Amino acid sequence: MVMDKLGDSLQGALRKLIGANRIDENVVNEVVKDIQRALLTSDVNVKLVMDMSKRIKERSLKEEPQKGADPREHVVRIVYQEMIGIMGKGATIDLKPQTIMMVGLQGSGKTTSVSKLARWFQKKGLKPAVIGADNFRPGAYQQLKILCDKLNVHFYGEEGETDAVGIVKRGLKEIEKYDIKIIDTAGRHALEADLIAEMEAINAIANPDQKFLVLDAAIGQQAGVQAKAFNDAVGITGIIITKLDGTAKGGGALSAVSEINAPIAFIGTGETPDDFERFDADRFISRLLGMGDLQSLLEKVQESMKESDLNVENIMKGRFTLNDMYAQLEAMNKMGPLKQVMKMLPLGSMGLGGAKLSDKDLDETGQKMKVYKVIMDSMTEGELNDPKIISAARIKRIAMGSGRSPDDIRELLKYHKNMQNAFKNFAGKGGGRSMQKMMK
Ligand code: GDP
Repeated sequence: MVMDKLGDSLQGALRKLIGANRIDENVVNEVVKDIQRALLTSDVNVKLVMDMSKRIKERSLKEEPQKGADPREHVVRIVYQEMIGIMGKGATIDLKPQTIMMVGLQGSGKTTSVSKLARWFQKKGLKPAVIGADNFRPGAYQQLKILCDKLNVHFYGEEGETDAVGIVKRGLKEIEKYDIKIIDTAGRHALEADLIAEMEAINAIANPDQKFLVLDAAIGQQAGVQAKAFNDAVGITGIIITKLDGTAKGGGALSAVSEINAPIAFIGTGETPDDFERFDADRFISRLLGMGDLQSLLEKVQESMKESDLNVENIMKGRFTLNDMYAQLEAMNKMGPLKQVMKMLPLGSMGLGGAKLSDKDLDETGQKMKVYKVIMDSMTEGELNDPKIISAARIKRIAMGSGRSPDDIRELLKYHKNMQNAFKNFAGKGGGRSMQKMMK
């Protein structure tokens, strides 16, 4: 499903952003590249993606963050706004009596959506009725009748009648007293001249308040082409995207709105009558970007950085005591299960012990800390501040005192040394300043 696949990739990109030690042009470029890849894979139009990337880059670097906003939040907000820019805000659906004409190609999910839409209004307390004017596809009459009967929705149809316009004319009279009048029109394999003529005729007779185009999400970028053609023919007021549950290509249909300026009204997410929801861009994109999770991620990152007892200035001068190491472990441990973020933090990605932190390392952080604490309790202040003085004899003494093996003590010292080297490298590469800033 597009939500899962696209969502995962976009969220991956944003987590990288949040985990970055400093937000600069390189980071923004990298994140934008990931977002581009995610959108193109989901079949969003290349030009749309390129324009959007350009705007994200420009705005991230030029616009001032909102007061009190972290630079990371600033960029996330821009990405969010730009996503709304390509998918639109979503349609407003009035809960009042109205006539709705449904159009779309065969197989797009039009008939199913007619019944889902009727059900949606029914749940809102309005009385829907349906006119089945799809006399082109064999079986469409029966299919819609059965669907409506199941939902207790009034259905008007004339099986075998070849004049769709006549069906609509008579149908509208028959369902006059209903609040919501939904007309199912015929589809074709392609938008042909006779179909256009029929749609125009029905449009003229019914004078619908809404003309919804049903688009199958799986058609990817073709959605834009279809939307344009139907819009030119009858003027579309809203889009229903079906089968978002079954495709990773839904980005094409979701962004087709930008082709015709008609908003997305509903999305279909399954085969049952209730697998249908209003498209609310705020909610949809928040879900897609995992905004709730991102926010808590951001807070945890900020919190752990603030609470860290690390003496950054000393560390940058090359002084990294065992107590500093412990404080660092504590900061990492506080972030608990957020392994992914930890891996993205500069300290994580610097590679403690010379290697990148693996899940196993992270799982073991809490355990390691307990053992290290016991060992460190058996050390003198001098040893804690300057582990270099810890000789073989001292190792033996500390092992005895803490009830651990000399190997455990050596492992702790090795871990400390690796971490100290990693800090030195980091400072040497110019990371020091940004880290100091980050730790504030
Ligand atoms: P029509 O030719 O446009 O009227 O298409 P139908 O309404 O008959 O739908 C074609 C197929 O798509 C049917 O098997 C439907 O059950 C299925 N379908 C429609 N909407 C959705 C949806 O949102 N999700 C899934 N998974 N299937 C859908």
